[in-house]
This record gives sequence, C-alpha cells and structure tokens, in this order.
Amino acid sequence: MTLAEAFRMTYDVRPSGVWSAPGRVNLIGEHTDYNDGFVLPFAIAARTSVAAAPRDDDLLRMRSLQQPSGDASVTLDALEPGRPEGWASYVAGVVWAVREQGHEVRGADLVVDGRVPLGGGLSSSHALEVAVAIAVNDLFGLGLDTDALADLTRLAENKFVGAPTGLMDQLALLRGQAGHALFLDTRSLHAEQVPLDPAADGYALVVIDTKVHHSLGDGAYADRRAACERAAAQLGLGSLRDLALDGLAQRLAGLDDELCRRARHVVTENARVPAAVDALRSRDWAELGSLMNASHTSLRDDYEVSCDELDVAVEAARRAGAVAARMTGGGFGGSAIALAPARRMPALRSEVVSAFAAAGWPTPGVFEVAPSDGARRDH
Ligand code: ADP
Ligand code: MG
Repeated sequence: MTLAEAFRMTYDVRPSGVWSAPGRVNLIGEHTDYNDGFVLPFAIAARTSVAAAPRDDDLLRMRSLQQPSGDASVTLDALEPGRPEGWASYVAGVVWAVREQGHEVRGADLVVDGRVPLGGGLSSSHALEVAVAIAVNDLFGLGLDTDALADLTRLAENKFVGAPTGLMDQLALLRGQAGHALFLDTRSLHAEQVPLDPAADGYALVVIDTKVHHSLGDGAYADRRAACERAAAQLGLGSLRDLALDGLAQRLAGLDDELCRRARHVVTENARVPAAVDALRSRDWAELGSLMNASHTSLRDDYEVSCDELDVAVEAARRAGAVAARMTGGGFGGSAIALAPARRMPALRSEVVSAFAAAGWPTPGVFEVAPSDGARRDH
C-alpha cells in the first residue's frame, strides 16, 4: 500500500500531496554546531514521508505507520509545549512554531511513514519535522524559504519537543544534494556543496547503527553545551568558534581540566572540518580517514560522548579495513560512520556483527549510505 492509499484509508479523502525529507549522517564536525562552528553532513537515501491535506476547521490529526497505536488529534489553540507529547510532538511542534512566527494556518490531516531508523542518530526527528514543515508551507501557501523553514523546525525541536539541538540537521536535510556533502558554517549559515562520491574510487560509506541509546546522553548533551558556554565566558569569548588552534594549549591553561578538554575538542574539531573539505576536493581518502579517526578519538577522550558500543563498532570497522570510522551524531549510542574499500564491506559487516555478539549485545544494523537529495515534494 502506498502512503497516499494509507492516507485515504485513514481519512476517507485523498491527500493534497506527499512530501519527504531524508535522514542525515555527519561526516565530520561533531558538537560544533552549537559553538558557531563547521559541520559536514550529507543527506542519506532513507526518507520520512508525510501525506497531508488541509482541513477547513482547526483540528490537527496525526497518524504514523511506525506508531500504530499512537494516533493523535488536537485543536490548534490547544497546542503548547508538552501537548501533545510523544511522537506527535514532532509534528504538532512544527505547526505550533509556524503559528508562533505569526503565520496563518488551519487544521490538517497527516499520515507519516518514516524509513529513517528511529532514535538511530540519523536524525529521524528532523526528517519528520522538515517533511511536515515543507508540507505545511505548501498546504497553506506560506512561501517560506529554506532558512525560514530551518528556523521554524529548530524552534519546534528546541521549544516544543524540548531538545536543545543546533541548526545543522535541518539545513543538511533541506539543502542536501545527491553526490555531495554540505560544508556549513553554522555562524554565517554560508553553505557549500562539496562533491562526495567515494564509489567512483572504489570506496563505500557505511553506517553502523548500534541500536542503543543510553539515557545518560540526554542530560549530557545539555551539560556539554553548558560547558562550552562556560569555557567561552571564562576566556572572554562570544563562542568557542573564536578560539584559534595556534597557541591553544596556552589559551586553555587557565581552565580546569574538564573545561579544557571540552574546549580542545571543539577547537580541534573545527579545524578538522575545513581540512576534511580539502581532502574531499582532492579525493584524498586516506587524509579524510585520518581526520575522521582523530575526530573519534577527540569525541571519546576529550568530549567524552562515546560509549562502549560505539568504540567497539569503530574498532571492528578499522580491523576489517576501514580507512575511517567514527561515531556520528550526539553520541552515547546511535550510529557510527565508516569509510572502507567497497570490497571490504562483507568483512566489515561480519567483523562488526561478531564483535557485538562477543560482547553479548543485540545485532547492530550495518548498511551502506550514499549522499542523496534533500527534502522535496514527491507528489
Ligand atoms: P533520531 O533523531 O536520532 O532518530 P530522536 O530521539 O531525536 O532520534 O528522535 C526519534 C523520535 O522521533 C522517535 O522516538 C519518535 O518520537 C519521533 N519520530 C521520528 N520518526 C518518526 C516516525 N516515522 N513516526 C513517528 N515518530 C517518529
Ligand atoms: Mg533527533
């Protein structure tokens, strides 16, 4: 059954259209987006689709094929952070944010079908929010551009869902282009498409979904953000973006050990991103690999956001011949990204799966990804 058919079965009318947004993987530049820094994400082929139709009253009705018992329905005036809760907050939060920004909308019926693994660190949450945002934009003729859509999905995620995330994910999903990664300066929002086609040189990109999410991570994200703000304030800076790599050890000497390591991760990671862009431009996969590997070490030791499952995934991938492997996303579970010669893929998969089995953990997801197109209207 197509999503449009599922919509018709649910609401007895045809949808006005179907919109979709992809998941994303961040190649490098982790925990830099809330420090005004650089990131290098790309959109993946797995997408979340939303079929929708406007209503002429103020009711918002939501169904997800991934949450069969989670149908939700709310009137627009009743929307407020915390209401509704759960998965529907990602949908309702976008509609709430649209209204917060002063746009006129009516009610709508929606059905969601997501193929981005939920909670896997590939941003299924933003895929859902962005797909809903572009649907609402079209349904009510709001005429919002990419930056405005990114802003309002950030407002939804930060204020309605209550996750203090930066702007990287929305922009990666909205601006993604097949065969490219997005080099994004999260301060100026200047973005450049950088060709990323490892297959042309016999390489493959693979995601390892550890299938775990340690609850510790939720508080730790806010904690790391706060540490960065404290470090910047103690150094008299607006943000850690303004700290140069040259003379770093001296500049950090006055901070306590923990703040020093947090700041060092942000500054070294910020330097690795433009270097990775240069490596991509010259198709120097070995150089890209050493930058990505250094990123993992920094996230594990200085920023302390990795976990055993991510470290085991990364080490197993390297043992199987990956030139690069690192955690991607916020950490404490979720996914790792590896770059390996395509012919090593079967070995990589079995090495990772057996390392997890040996540790007594559930089987991880191991799948190839390729840079894909961003959010769009499909029908
Ligand atoms: P990630 O963004 O890394 O996948 P999050 O915890 O940020 O993980 O977001 C996952 C949550 O987003 C899910 O628990 C669910 O509430 C919501 N979500 C994402 N995709 C869907 C979907 N297709 N249907 C219903 N809820 C979804
Ligand atoms: Mg998310």
